[in-house]
Amino acid sequence: MGDEPTRCDVLVIGAGPGGGCAALHSARRGLDTMLIEDHPEVGTPVHCGECISDLAVRNLDLDIPDDIIALPVSGIRVIFPDGTAKCLTEHGYVLEKHLFERWIADEAQDAGASFHLQHKLTGMERMEDEDGIFQGWRCTGKGDRFPVEAKVVIDASGVAGVCSKILELNPRPKVIAGVQYEMLDVPTDGYLDFYIWPEYAKKGYLWMIPKNDGRANVGLVTEDKKGAVKALDAFIENTHFKDLEMVNPPWRKGDKVRGFGGTIPISGPHETTHADGLMLIGDAAGFTSPLFEGGSHLALKSAVYAAEVAQQAVAKGDLSADHMARYPRMWKAEFPPYHKILRGKEALYALSDDELSLMARCFPEEMNDMGVRGKGMIVLRLLFRRPSLYFKRIVSAMLAFGYSRAKHYGW
Ligand SMILES: Cc1cc2nc3c(=O)[nH]c(=O)nc-3n(C[C@H](O)[C@H](O)[C@H](O)COP(=O)(O)OP(=O)(O)OC[C@H]3O[C@@H](n4cnc5c(N)ncnc54)[C@H](O)[C@@H]3O)c2cc1C
Repeated sequence: MGDEPTRCDVLVIGAGPGGGCAALHSARRGLDTMLIEDHPEVGTPVHCGECISDLAVRNLDLDIPDDIIALPVSGIRVIFPDGTAKCLTEHGYVLEKHLFERWIADEAQDAGASFHLQHKLTGMERMEDEDGIFQGWRCTGKGDRFPVEAKVVIDASGVAGVCSKILELNPRPKVIAGVQYEMLDVPTDGYLDFYIWPEYAKKGYLWMIPKNDGRANVGLVTEDKKGAVKALDAFIENTHFKDLEMVNPPWRKGDKVRGFGGTIPISGPHETTHADGLMLIGDAAGFTSPLFEGGSHLALKSAVYAAEVAQQAVAKGDLSADHMARYPRMWKAEFPPYHKILRGKEALYALSDDELSLMARCFPEEMNDMGVRGKGMIVLRLLFRRPSLYFKRIVSAMLAFGYSRAKHYGW
């Protein structure tokens, strides 16, 4: 670490989809942009089921190269405890996520951003002029480009939420744990299979996410962090996945097959997502979908907003929190009502296996276009069969599926 600081307009922390996209859009807007990433390479280890909806791709105007798409998919099939299966048909893609993140990083560097791997942010101090007016952040950490002086910091450090931690901006979020294996010769008809089976995934779900050549990610998210691997192993042992081969994904070296995954924030957007010269995006801001926990679309979109606000702040020479307040206004106007969806999720997980299956049997084969009238009919049918469901907020539980759609950033 030298004494002479590295200076830039925008310092992005983390090279996940959010950070890469923030660097890309900041550089495209002519800002002197620097990105630091703790890991020695972009994209690995993968901590994602790797799916993204077509609506997200269109919303973000992504022209994803073919070799990054492992498989185009038809949508999600939700499988309930008694085996009843209902579809949410919406086109999308399963990605080679590490290649996707590297592609965004390459685009960002082509646009002029500089990337610095094995650089970990550990400290931040305000810089002020003699009148006490905020001038930027002096950032310190591990890596030879530190200290870095940046007018604006975009925190895209994922669930680590490093700026919130250093500056004590937000409490630590509640998290859910996810783990998956890559498996071979997995039968598929092109849908993502999501199993709502609380027996294995407490307040979470299990998945089979198909890829090319018969490969698939088979995994789960659960609130039981310590028991996650054991529960996934039991699910595989007790289902048609039992006799299929498990392998390491292509990006992982070594013979010993291990699961891969991570944690996902589930408390919803942080109270504070901006401050003087600072914006939090993606998982670092708590932006994940409450029911199926997807976060890539939200990370990418919040990155686009943050880059726009950073450009204005630098151009006007006003880095104050008041000026940056446009950022939370932008994401609040666009992102779905988290707490409403969370209510739906809680109502859903308050149902017993039997009640979940009963609800599923009342759903139409295709859940994507139930409509207000359709939902009303389902509620009536359900209450007729099981009046006690009235007290279990069945309407909220049903609405959770509506909010899991791509247009609500559900995946
Ligand atoms: C098991 C699992 C399955 C998932 N499946 C899906 C899915 O199918 N679809 C979907 O949309 N979402 C999915 N998600 C969620 C998705 O992965 C995240 O929402 C998304 O990656 C968030 O992107 P991000 O850029 O905000 O953060 P991240 O992708 O987490 O990137 C953060 C980066 O910051 C770096 N970093 C952290 N601290 C520092 C520091 N101090 N200094 C420098 N760098 C730092 C990290 O090394 C990391 O590279 C899944 C998550 C898990 C765990």
